Amino acid sequence: MVYIQKGGCLCQSIRYEFFGEPVGMAHCHCSDCRKASGSAFATVVGIPLSGFTILQGEPKGFSIQAESGNVVTRCFCSQCGSQLYSKNPKAPDVIWIKAGSLDDSNWVKPALSIWTSSAQPWSVIPPETHNFPKNPTFTG
Ligand SMILES: [Zn+2]
Ligand SMILES: [Zn+2]
Repeated sequence: MVYIQKGGCLCQSIRYEFFGEPVGMAHCHCSDCRKASGSAFATVVGIPLSGFTILQGEPKGFSIQAESGNVVTRCFCSQCGSQLYSKNPKAPDVIWIKAGSLDDSNWVKPALSIWTSSAQPWSVIPPETHNFPKNPTFTG
């Protein structure tokens, strides 16, 4: 269904593209996503690393041990601060794109809400998602 998609940061200095079927889409309510995004949760689209290319610019990475125990690397634009994607050694072949960094994110349909155990009372968990109190298999 989804083939080539492009995205990038707010200041346009970093641009990426990917192709391939997403392996998963989720709203992540973990406290790290909350801090890093500055919002109630982060919406991520997992795509095969093999189909991902940075077209321009150089994202900066910040690595931190998540509550899951995994050291998650969060990549962002050092100029404008936009978050772009994260990587988790638990699933090295997958890259977790921040859905909001896509040029066109209309097709994104998160099926999961994860880390709902730390969801905030001011956030909304869509009734159609499968909910996991912590990590099903990935992210952090
Ligand atoms: Zn930027
Ligand atoms: Zn998270």
